[in-house]
Amino acid sequence: MRLLKEFDQKDPAKIGQELHRFAEELYPICRSITGDGIRRTLAMIQNRISLQTFEVPTGTAVFDWTVPKEWNIQDAYIKDRRGKRVVDFQDCNLHVLNYSTPVRATMPLSELKPHLFTIPANPEWIPYRTSYYKEDWGFCLSHNQMLALEDGEYEVCIDSTLQDGHLTYGECFLPGRSAREVLISCHACHPSLANDNLSGLTVAAFLAHFLSGRDLRYSYRFLFIPGTIGAITWLAQNRAVTERICHGLVLTCIGDRGRFHYKKSRRGNAEIDRAVSHVLTHYSESPEFLEFSPYGYDERQYCSPGFNLAVGCLMRSVWGSFPEYHTSADNLDFIHPQPLAESLRMCTAILDVLENNRRYRSLNPYCEPQLGRHNLYHSTGGDGVGEDITARLWVLNLSDGEFSLLDIAERSGIPFSLISQAADLLCQNGLLAVIPDDMARETPKHR
Ligand SMILES: [Zn+2]
Repeated sequence: MRLLKEFDQKDPAKIGQELHRFAEELYPICRSITGDGIRRTLAMIQNRISLQTFEVPTGTAVFDWTVPKEWNIQDAYIKDRRGKRVVDFQDCNLHVLNYSTPVRATMPLSELKPHLFTIPANPEWIPYRTSYYKEDWGFCLSHNQMLALEDGEYEVCIDSTLQDGHLTYGECFLPGRSAREVLISCHACHPSLANDNLSGLTVAAFLAHFLSGRDLRYSYRFLFIPGTIGAITWLAQNRAVTERICHGLVLTCIGDRGRFHYKKSRRGNAEIDRAVSHVLTHYSESPEFLEFSPYGYDERQYCSPGFNLAVGCLMRSVWGSFPEYHTSADNLDFIHPQPLAESLRMCTAILDVLENNRRYRSLNPYCEPQLGRHNLYHSTGGDGVGEDITARLWVLNLSDGEFSLLDIAERSGIPFSLISQAADLLCQNGLLAVIPDDMARETPKHR
């Protein structure tokens, strides 16, 4: 299955616009790690791909954690003494400290202030703050909004509920020829934030749609989960599945105009790390590669020592490194159709490597075959040999059953797609034979 070739037959501008439009649809929803916001989000993804949703009850023990109470919110505001809403959840859902307990009170500004969060350095932006694991309430507002608050009494209302309920997550499973799996995971728990959350979610949904119904080597499992607690919950309830996960990617912050960054898995040299490194190096501008660290997104959980899955994290701008991160400026103007489409293409190219990274055996190992006799020489004409001929020579030389096509692509410096095309052509001409997938050799347990 030539995923990249098929993807490149589509119109990237149209794909970019569709991705951005889907982000626009999802943007207004007030999501959190539990509650109706994430349910509505999953329902909208369900309109596009076959997604199964799971509800895990509050209080369920998941390793060292417990599934929290479910949070829902209807409304929230701060009213001045004239009854005017000076901070209004209906204007922007970031105005409420996510997971705020319900409040109805009247209080002087001095009492209210400890519950207000702003960003003095960017006085027009509203911060995104949460208090999942400590019961608290608060409002987030622009610094200028806070400076405009006069002394006096304010009516404060957070019409929320924090009760026993469920943690909700979604899973899209696409069966392939092998039971071995590729995991694609993204968090779906942030309210109106575009790059951190919606970019990963929309690209993952489109990627699942693109793969749906295809004849695939691997099985694919897409997770749309609340950050941290969702990954921990999923891992606690799917330990048997983790034995089949050979490769994985966490997708986040991939809709902005920054260059690509890839954070390697804890293993550092897993096939996914090499596949991403190869693809970004050949197909993107000045990518940067980051070593694994135990902080970031859900790769932290997948790469915890008990699992040590081969899961890395694909980003453009790195979380925390751009000023818009976790603020109202990470909005629909911060992500763009072109980088969204390019990120989807990059994911497709990475999966194309995984799908086609096989080992072959030359059927003509004693000296070079006479390529001209097989019509496999000088297809490009001119002086010297073209990259397509060089690719054929590399594949023929290194296909002794030991080296994979990715090994050959790395060693030759030729893009994987050309190496892979060369292997196809040589097979068609009876010069090369694929070695059947070796389950023992490619077991996920390279611990
Ligand atoms: Zn975040």
